[in-house]
Amino acid sequence: MASEKKDIRALSKQELRDFFERAGDKAFRGNQVYEWLWNKGIHSFADMTNISKETRAQLEDNFVINHIEVDNLQKSKDGTIKNAVKLFDGLIVESVLIPTKTRTTACVSSQVGCSLDCKFCATARLKRMRNLNPDEIYDQVVAIHKESLLYHGRPLSNIVFMGMGEPLMNYKNVLLSIDKITSDEGLGMSPKRITLSTSGVPKMIKKLADDQVKFNLAVSLHSAIQEKRELIMPFAKSFTLDDLKESLEYWYEKTKKIITYEYVVWDGINDSLEDIKALVQFCKYAPSKVNLIEYNPIDDGDFRQADAAAIDLYIEQLEKNRIPVTVRRSRGKDIDAACGQLANKH
Ligand code: SAH
Repeated sequence: MASEKKDIRALSKQELRDFFERAGDKAFRGNQVYEWLWNKGIHSFADMTNISKETRAQLEDNFVINHIEVDNLQKSKDGTIKNAVKLFDGLIVESVLIPTKTRTTACVSSQVGCSLDCKFCATARLKRMRNLNPDEIYDQVVAIHKESLLYHGRPLSNIVFMGMGEPLMNYKNVLLSIDKITSDEGLGMSPKRITLSTSGVPKMIKKLADDQVKFNLAVSLHSAIQEKRELIMPFAKSFTLDDLKESLEYWYEKTKKIITYEYVVWDGINDSLEDIKALVQFCKYAPSKVNLIEYNPIDDGDFRQADAAAIDLYIEQLEKNRIPVTVRRSRGKDIDAACGQLANKH
């Protein structure tokens, strides 16, 4: 049950210092508590051993320490691990650890469910229940970092916001979580190793640029033809390709960071030369590269991965136009951990 008391992890270090000052204690106490909560990651006030009993009781009276619990851990035969993560109010999100030869990537969720309506994505079938708090996003990363050390003997190297939800619809909390992930008081990771993936919310992409963020941006494009994109991603009626284009030009102008377009090629949907030409044209608006993603079927519905010849034609045409292109193989399909398969099935 959600508690009436405030989650102490929602407080900044300054707010904690203020709390102690107001209570007639030393502001420095706030730093100590902050360290317990974030660097040491404890879940109980009783564990704060350098804090007096009275102060701990005082904290107990005013706050709770919300934290996540890995409720279910599934391992794929390819080394991918999927966590079902239980939140303080009992809701569940999923996060994934993806090991390759050179990297260990955490794929984290930003919302419980999703408010967007991509026809090919399992998460879209769950309605959006709520946004995740900054500490709930941060904790997913910490859990995966620990699993990476435990099961693969190496630390986490990269983070992608490609789990459940649309990160730009939870802008403030996602950015606060990244602050924590990159700060020395959190995980001290470089923002260059973090990628935020969005379905394309033009206004918020501009805000990212204005906020001078240092992490990478990926956009799930899937079609560069407005009418087609509306069919597979109906929200694109409100967030048009024209607006998206303008926001991406703005992003590049302000950040000088190259954009990644994620793109699935489906049989009979976007596998024609006309589709490829539109993509090539779109890629010319701002420096970018294309990541062709394998389709992960979510049911026996209308979407089927295009054949190898169609993918090869995309690669050939993109390369001819000097647009970098990579092909991403699916990971963790046997445990429904691949892109677009996160839907709390268990
Ligand atoms: N809302 C964000 C992040 C979550 S989706 C976004 O749209 O980018 C992460 C990626 O998985 C997106 O590129 C999305 O288009 C892709 N995806 C969704 N369903 C998929 C599926 N069934 N197969 C392959 N990729 C899928």
